[in-house]
Amino acid sequence: MAYKNFTLETDADGIALVTWDMPDKSMNVFTAEVMDELAAILEATVADAAVKGVVFTSGKSTFSGGADLSMIKSMFSFYNEEKQKDADAAAGKLFELVGRMSGLYRRIETCGKPWVAAINGTCMGGALELSLACHGRVVADGKNVKLALPEVKVGIFPGAGGTQRVARLTDAQSALQMMTTGQSLTGARAKAMNLVHQVVPAAELVMAAKQMIKDGLKPVAPWDERGFKVPGGGIWTPAAAQLWPAAPAILRRESAGNYPAALAILKCVYEGLQVPFDTGLRIEQRYFTEILRGRPAFAMIRSLFISMQELGKGARRPAGQPKTEFTKVGVVGAGFMGAAVAYVTAAAGIPVVLVDRDQEAADKGKGHCEETAKAAIGKGKMTPDEAKALLDLITPTPDYSALSDATLVIEAVFEDRDVKKAVIEKVEAVLPQGAIFASNTSTLPITGLAKNAKRPNDFIGIHFFSPVEKMMLTEVILGKETGDRALAVALDYVAKIKKTPIVVNDTRGFYVNRCVLRYMAESYNMLIEGVPPVMIENAAKFAGMPVGPLALNDEVAIDLSLKILKATVADLGEKAIDPRHLELVSRLVEQEGRLGRKNAKGFYDYPPKPAKKSLWPGLKSFYPQKKADDVDMDVLKERFLATIALEAARTMEEGIVTDPREADVGSILGFGFAPYTGGALSYIDGMGVKTFVALCEKLAKDYGPHFRPTPLLKEMAEKGETFYGRFDPYGEKDIAA
Ligand code: NAD
Repeated sequence: MAYKNFTLETDADGIALVTWDMPDKSMNVFTAEVMDELAAILEATVADAAVKGVVFTSGKSTFSGGADLSMIKSMFSFYNEEKQKDADAAAGKLFELVGRMSGLYRRIETCGKPWVAAINGTCMGGALELSLACHGRVVADGKNVKLALPEVKVGIFPGAGGTQRVARLTDAQSALQMMTTGQSLTGARAKAMNLVHQVVPAAELVMAAKQMIKDGLKPVAPWDERGFKVPGGGIWTPAAAQLWPAAPAILRRESAGNYPAALAILKCVYEGLQVPFDTGLRIEQRYFTEILRGRPAFAMIRSLFISMQELGKGARRPAGQPKTEFTKVGVVGAGFMGAAVAYVTAAAGIPVVLVDRDQEAADKGKGHCEETAKAAIGKGKMTPDEAKALLDLITPTPDYSALSDATLVIEAVFEDRDVKKAVIEKVEAVLPQGAIFASNTSTLPITGLAKNAKRPNDFIGIHFFSPVEKMMLTEVILGKETGDRALAVALDYVAKIKKTPIVVNDTRGFYVNRCVLRYMAESYNMLIEGVPPVMIENAAKFAGMPVGPLALNDEVAIDLSLKILKATVADLGEKAIDPRHLELVSRLVEQEGRLGRKNAKGFYDYPPKPAKKSLWPGLKSFYPQKKADDVDMDVLKERFLATIALEAARTMEEGIVTDPREADVGSILGFGFAPYTGGALSYIDGMGVKTFVALCEKLAKDYGPHFRPTPLLKEMAEKGETFYGRFDPYGEKDIAA
């Protein structure tokens, strides 16, 4: 029989080589069709007496990325539809559906013939779970080979036997660590954890896998053998008595109880290790069904998996524009941002010209790139040869004529209109027709800057976030006259450097900074009310924010906050800001000399390492302090999330952001908005717009008019709408909920 996604060749020794190689896909993923074919292959190899064993490998450079978008989407659509008819029956059907993969893997494991996974490249999620169900696992040696069960990062967990098999192969602590963090393992680490049998040179991979079968590999999993013992002795041992009471506490410290999937992993392992293997699988299947029905799984999968992929693959790219080939990118301004932009561009294999005012300044920028590369070598992320190849792509120069054959030029000079105007003119004088000019400004409107350009339709904003190497988001800013070609080139560039773009219309602060300023402003309000600073920081973290607002303000720099407040007054008048905020920030900067992390004095004190930062005690003397018992932490949490979500809703209302996927993904990748909510708009949709409006009205009464719900929100509440319904990005009622 011929298969669409697999080839099957049986050699003279009776070993069937199953090669997974999906046509029209760069990476193998699980779809319903793949599962059907895999089941058919399994039965065919079992039935064929000539087949002694099976080696399962991939025909792509990676092994597999795990589940496919379409499969996950259809699971949610199915459940949402069925739920309307009969909620209990829908849960039952979902239970059966999620058991399918697990059942298929168990059938491989118990089919009576040995299966060996030959893992030639990165192997994620469901693909690693499949490998774990094989009787042997051989991994190709190489930096590109990573193994992981990363499901927890999108609100679910390994639900195809992963929790049961990992915990029966390695000690419970390592198993929990691997699955609750979703960390990637190298082949060597996986071997040390006993998750794989061999790590061999790539060229010998299939041979080694076949050899395992020839050497008489038993087609029985260890847990199906009589007398099997769980590594470390299971749950009722002195070592386990140390681990298990602490594990939920550690998890709570790390996740503040916001991630039910992480807790479900603990439950699956703890309960599963006390029962026979098949019962363990059943326990996993139950928890998996429960998690899939919960809001965090739905919201996280939608934003962090589906929407992120869709945006990364050009969901907002204008149709009909040819794909851009980047032969050369220019970066003008070799300072803090420009050097980092040059680095990530070269890391994507694109030659870069790094221009600054003189050779010395340009060289200094390249020096920053060299330091970044050195740090990457130190961490084992890059070889010296790779670093050299990357750095060779960056040419520092003060000579603008080097930009005459660039596809794209990104400007990152001082945040000053006149300096930028002069640079725009100089670049335009040499830039070829059809090339695009992008500004990395963080505060100056793109439409205004584009007025200095002769070709404003070739002018766009590409707003990076610091640290550029780490931050996965970029805001692509459309000026009034920005054309489709400029947008296509900007999106192609962002895709090339492997970041996620959101497309934002021009406004003060664009999208991300508008929201971030609300977050920090709410912390000023709390300080002024006398809320102890430590409670402010902890409430934000309990709400799911990765960094407290005061710590974040220190990173951004408090003098920058002062500058922004003053500029807002200058541009929009006194009423545009809260005078108490200006008073607080001026006092910190001008009287106390506290600028933030950069001078080791901000809301926190920063003693020399290894000592850790701690909140500056002097802050408490600014305002009379409330007693801790008089502060409701839950209200503080609500205030942080609501003030940001309200700002996100305002940007939709104003047409600054037009697609809810971008508002959600931008809020998580840009400033870590409580990921379990699925992002700032999913947070509102999750509780229902009506409930959100009621919450805002209550907060407005207690804490000020900045919480007042907007007309759009009130209208949506009245009509019973959601953001994903009203601004449906798919133009259909797909998985909007
Ligand atoms: P920076 O001061 O570190 O670097 C600016 C560089 O521009 C300097 O190397 C300077 O020599 C060079 N320069 C100035 N005038 C020039 C000219 N006429 N021709 C060529 N080079 C010139 O500043 P930065 O922090 O890298 O910021 C650069 C831009 O990026 C600004 O528009 C800023 O708003 C934006 N931005 C900054 C951040 C951030 O976190 N710092 C984040 C996003 C965007």
